[in-house]
Amino acid sequence: MRYISTRGDAASPKKTFTEILLDGLAPDGGLYLPETYPRVTRADLDRWRDLPYADLALAVLARFIGDIPESDLKALVDKTYTAEVYCNGRDPARAAEIAPVRWLEPGLGLLELSNGPTLAFKDMAMQLLGNLFEYALAKRGEEINILGATSGDTGSAAEYAMRGKRGVRVFMLSPHGRMSAFQRAQMYSLQEANIFNIAVRGVFDDAQDAVKAIFNDRDFKARHRLGAVNSINWARVAAQTVYYFKGYFAATRSNGERVDFAVPSGNFGNIFAGHVARMMGLPIGKLVLATNENDVLDEFFRTGVYRPRGAADTWTTSSPSMDISKASNFERFVFDLTGRDPAAIRESWSRIDAGGGFDLSASPYFSALPEFGFVSGKSTHADRLATIRRAWKEYGVTIDPHTADGLKAALDRRAPETPMLALETAQPAKFEETIAEALGHPPERPAAMAGIERLPQRVEVMNADADAIKHFIAREIKAG
Ligand SMILES: *Cc1c(COP(=O)(O)O)cnc(C)c1O
Repeated sequence: MRYISTRGDAASPKKTFTEILLDGLAPDGGLYLPETYPRVTRADLDRWRDLPYADLALAVLARFIGDIPESDLKALVDKTYTAEVYCNGRDPARAAEIAPVRWLEPGLGLLELSNGPTLAFKDMAMQLLGNLFEYALAKRGEEINILGATSGDTGSAAEYAMRGKRGVRVFMLSPHGRMSAFQRAQMYSLQEANIFNIAVRGVFDDAQDAVKAIFNDRDFKARHRLGAVNSINWARVAAQTVYYFKGYFAATRSNGERVDFAVPSGNFGNIFAGHVARMMGLPIGKLVLATNENDVLDEFFRTGVYRPRGAADTWTTSSPSMDISKASNFERFVFDLTGRDPAAIRESWSRIDAGGGFDLSASPYFSALPEFGFVSGKSTHADRLATIRRAWKEYGVTIDPHTADGLKAALDRRAPETPMLALETAQPAKFEETIAEALGHPPERPAAMAGIERLPQRVEVMNADADAIKHFIAREIKAG
């Protein structure tokens, strides 16, 4: 299995999985994808149907990873996908299954992806990434310093995945005083020496700009071996394909049936993994993309026009992890949709980088969209509250605001003959205010997280000054 870039040409060298593992973008600015998608047969599916999650992950991931010996990969997935890690802060003995389906009614279920340590689906892939990084760095005798900016879910998932890992440090910038007390406690209470929280005075964009400025200093980046773990990392996408298989098996009796999935979407990483599973041959019917008020993707799937917004036109909503202006993984999908033509991607994305967009409405590629199974839907704050209430009243289940966006799209797009799984991407405990607004009472919190706001916190408060932050990073790296 070799990897190519969405913007590369035939002459660009093809890379192996571990060569792209620690990279974000390809050197040409594109995103990595397998040269061809591995195909699974009906016989593979028959063999995989009853596997426990870790074994299923091994079977699926081995198709993407040609340069880690299978026994090593097995050790890595066995260490990652355990009841201790994915027990949602409960007694591990009660977490019988990883990514279980909770049926709301016949033919409609929630695929539970947020039982990991930070209560969001990002743990499903990020925990594996932590173990893969540690393994690959040890093999090469290298280190990496992960730098990122977060407004919540990504930063905490990265820190919980990398805490205590040899060869890895994490420098995570967050907007000072702008995350919820729970989110702050989740991140800042980590005491591992390789985790550095930097609270930046300003808003998220100030933190993000500081990170960009630091990465643009190529000399500093190379000297301090800076890396990223954002959602364009291919290993994260690969790890996410596994739970589409898991959900499919849970919703069917035999491997001829189809299943539809509804996915709360932001950077298009989660649903892109569903597309990959479908390209591998998993019998997925529809992939229902759900957005909030930031509807750049809903607009594309309805009209064929992709029109990224500026930061100023991006709304702050009650499903904040879906508040995006452009969707970083979308380039991968457009590459597949338009027949894998790197020249076309280079052209379209040079227009996007210049503040524009593109229009496929008159193109045969747009008419071919149904063959890729995608449909879309959008929610407002009022829809979100109504869906949270409906789930509570009709099904006795408390769902978080992101999952509510997905469930609404699932309800709107359900077909009577096909089971529909809505992906549960976070626990309600992370978004107490919106739940209280919808239901009149706050959600329950997992026992292990009771009172985390009272734990001692480790955080450095700094100005959004790239030079000062560089100085801090260099000093901490030097100190060991
Ligand atoms: C990150 C996130 C999303 C969006 O996922 P993408 O892969 O960026 O599309 C949705 N819901 C929650 C809770 C998230 O943390």
